Amino acid sequence: MAAIIDGKLVSAKIRGEIKEEAAAFAARNGRFPGLTVVRVGEDPASVVYVRNKMRACDEVGFVSETVVLPENASEEEVLNTVRKLNDDPKVDGLLVQLPLPRGLDAKKIVAAVKPGKDVDAFHSLDAGHLRLEDGNILPCTPSGIMAMLSYYGIDVFGKECVVIGRSDIVGKPMAALLLAADATVTVAHSKTQDLPSVTRRADILVSAVGRAKTVTADMVKPGAVVIDVGMNRDENGKLCGDVDFAAVSGVASFITPVPGGVGPMTVTMLVRNTMNAALNSEKE
Ligand code: NAP
Repeated sequence: MAAIIDGKLVSAKIRGEIKEEAAAFAARNGRFPGLTVVRVGEDPASVVYVRNKMRACDEVGFVSETVVLPENASEEEVLNTVRKLNDDPKVDGLLVQLPLPRGLDAKKIVAAVKPGKDVDAFHSLDAGHLRLEDGNILPCTPSGIMAMLSYYGIDVFGKECVVIGRSDIVGKPMAALLLAADATVTVAHSKTQDLPSVTRRADILVSAVGRAKTVTADMVKPGAVVIDVGMNRDENGKLCGDVDFAAVSGVASFITPVPGGVGPMTVTMLVRNTMNAALNSEKE
């Protein structure tokens, strides 16, 4: 049976470290690091996600704030809010919660967040730093996965890694981080032919598709490490990942559950990025 990679456990350790760093930062600067989230409208999932982010910040002592704009806010109003927060020295980390209401250009609004404060690391400049391997504000979900692998002593050096999914938020940055750690990386997607033959090569398999039971036991090499990024609902409306957890657990050496695997790490790495942004600002 595969060992469980416990995202809550790894998160608790990292949040403990950040709490100490935040206290030391406050002793030097007379203020704690701050994260501000701009939420437009009342999308129920976004309300929950933002609340979780605020809680994670509270846990480590950060000053967190949610700026709520009405559903019918104009693009100019959102952009002006972002610009004001860009210029506020107490705001170390800033993000606009996605998805945005229809009619707002998410690309334009994300691009308005000041690079360096962009703790989601969605800005093209942050994507560039990732490519050049010279930044410390990294996309949250992939960097959370790297932190989990490291915690469990799973070395990626020289390993065959397959990432299913090529989104800008998960798949592509995941591949970049694995490559930076000297893995041999294959990225699969909806046009990949004979997906099982590709995934069976993987020592480490990361699935970021968004469809339940995408990864079945016959697609996994015995002893592989399986990381499930997917967040889906099964036929009973229960939260599940992309991986057939019960069957794949019988083949893999390590596996992340859903919930309790990658999810908690994503929020923790947002907190990590905010801490890094605050530390970077000290050096300016
Ligand atoms: P996305 O933008 O929809 O990308 C999905 C990717 O999967 C695409 O690259 C797509 O290929 C590929 N794909 C779709 N069907 C496929 C198939 N049958 N075989 C192989 N590849 C296939 O999604 P995302 O934003 O990356 O998110 C992926 C999942 O992770 C979702 O369930 C999301 O909710 C979850 N997620 C979880 C966290 C977390 O913290 N746990 C964070 C972010 C996302 P094409 O490019 O060819 O279309």
